[in-house]
Amino acid sequence: MRKALLCMLAVACLAGAAPKKPKLVLAIVVDQFRYDYLIRFRSEYHGGLARLLSQGAVFTNAGFIHVPAITAVGHSTVLTGATPSTSGIVGNEWFDRDEGVRVSSVSDARTQLLGGSGTGSSPNRLLVSTIGDELKMAGGGKPRVIGVSLKDRAAILPSGHMADGAFWFDTKTGNFVSSSYYYKELPAWVEEFNAPRPADKYRGVTWLGHKMPEDNARLFEELEVTPFGNELTEAFAERALASEQLGTREFTDLLTVSFSSNDYVGHRYGPDSPEVRETALATDRLLEKLFQAVDRRVGAGNYLVVFTADHGVAPVPEVNVARKMPGGRVDPAAIRAAVELALVKKYGAGEWVAGAWDLAVYLNQGLIARLKLDLAEVEREAARAIQVLPHISRVYTLEEMKRGWVVRDPVSQKVANGYHLRRGPDVELILDPYWMVGTGKGTGHAAPYSYDTHVPVIFLGAGIRPGLYHAPIAVNDIAPTLATMLEIETPSGSVGRVLTEILVD
Ligand SMILES: [Zn+2]
Repeated sequence: MRKALLCMLAVACLAGAAPKKPKLVLAIVVDQFRYDYLIRFRSEYHGGLARLLSQGAVFTNAGFIHVPAITAVGHSTVLTGATPSTSGIVGNEWFDRDEGVRVSSVSDARTQLLGGSGTGSSPNRLLVSTIGDELKMAGGGKPRVIGVSLKDRAAILPSGHMADGAFWFDTKTGNFVSSSYYYKELPAWVEEFNAPRPADKYRGVTWLGHKMPEDNARLFEELEVTPFGNELTEAFAERALASEQLGTREFTDLLTVSFSSNDYVGHRYGPDSPEVRETALATDRLLEKLFQAVDRRVGAGNYLVVFTADHGVAPVPEVNVARKMPGGRVDPAAIRAAVELALVKKYGAGEWVAGAWDLAVYLNQGLIARLKLDLAEVEREAARAIQVLPHISRVYTLEEMKRGWVVRDPVSQKVANGYHLRRGPDVELILDPYWMVGTGKGTGHAAPYSYDTHVPVIFLGAGIRPGLYHAPIAVNDIAPTLATMLEIETPSGSVGRVLTEILVD
């Protein structure tokens, strides 16, 4: 009897001690937001970023543990905790050997766009569960899960398979759209949001000397390359919050918001430009606007924010060279040509390359099989041709990845984490630091180096111990930490650890 009473008391004490679960998880990804943007512009932040930095648990050395460090891969990591080797999201695009075509991370020919015209998108290529999926499964489908971004992949991949809806911006129409994967028709509140044509108001408006075009086709693309794109995203997120009544019921809901304009601005002007600084400051103000909306609707202390980015960015090579730093551009045509020349020379005429872009070269495996050649040998031949080109740091082949025949160091580990054995390329190359594939202007990201992989991770809200945390962590640690706090199953592919240091006992 006494023992039973003690047990009951202990259970009561345990239950009393556990922080109550948040009503809403607000997961924010800023596309191409390098960690150092938090530091460089700190004194100018007075809004949402200042709130995160002063009240949150701030990880100063969080990074991605995969390459390529690009949008779809980063967004698929944040709420799955998985690496591409398991999640299957190996790039924004890859060559699908079964379909024999280049596919995007969310392209799905079986779906239709809602609110626009053409093919829709879905999370069908994502092979693992997200926090949203685990919330849904644990709660019998009742928790609400919504994803929002300018980009389809950045709305779809964080929210997951069981999301109620993912919404993104259609540059053809200026509408926020979704996919028949989620709905039969666009929800009424989305139609109502689109009806006054909120994107049109930016026509002719000037930002830092850049005048928005008059014609719609160009306007809707150009406004993405300014903070106006983020303004639309934030307004839509607020509408989703209200219309879906997120965070107002007994279940924990999830809203994922990815701000894409930082990425478009960063690609065009580079991390050292006034445009990137101005966009970061605008993001600070917009985040405060969003936080205040959540404060009003859900209540301060009732929600949990997690803030991160999908990748960083390299300096513009010409800017780096001008300040005596290394850097430059490698012509992708030269990589492809080197492989083709080597394989024609060794094996005879043929279409040897199925696809080559960024860091990936996909060989024509059908041709290699028909000629009864040893795939591993052909891959090695292609790799040798690339390795001798200028500014190539490493070359990996599919066969080497399968067998684990790689140098044991952190760069190789990131390549291995990024390699899915069905979807990965036959040859993957890593350039020297500050070098990038491409001949255009501006800059890019993909590399295993810190400027592309070091990003913010900040938790803010009930149950979180604020402060600065300097020990290195992986972005993959976010998902298992959320799963632990929310008392749901860890997402299926997670390789992260629980960040116990930030959890209030
Ligand atoms: Zn991105």
